[in-house]
Amino acid sequence: MKCPACASDRTYRTDPKSLIVHCENCRHSWKTRQSLKALLRDTHYLRRGPMKGSHDISVWHCPTDLNRYSFALGYGGGIASFKEFAEDDFLSGSFETPEAALAAGIEEVKSIERS
Ligand SMILES: [Zn+2]
Repeated sequence: MKCPACASDRTYRTDPKSLIVHCENCRHSWKTRQSLKALLRDTHYLRRGPMKGSHDISVWHCPTDLNRYSFALGYGGGIASFKEFAEDDFLSGSFETPEAALAAGIEEVKSIERS
């Protein structure tokens, strides 16, 4: 990611879960809209059905509200496309806490088995 102040690409985050990016060149720091790493992550295993196996649930910042959280679902090397947000096809829902987004993601996986 390039620095918006000096266009240097010597930029870094102190924490991959943080939204704050720092520039090594001019010391500028700014806030981005998404973390590099999921804030929370869990797996849920489905024992039957066409999508049986391990499902990956990850929690990220909501694309439309940085104070809320959304989940993404991964399965078999792919990521579910929800097309719920124009900013990010792979995120779903908007929750008050990362834990609530994770729980909703797990419920979504469980509903695959029931359908
Ligand atoms: Zn800079």
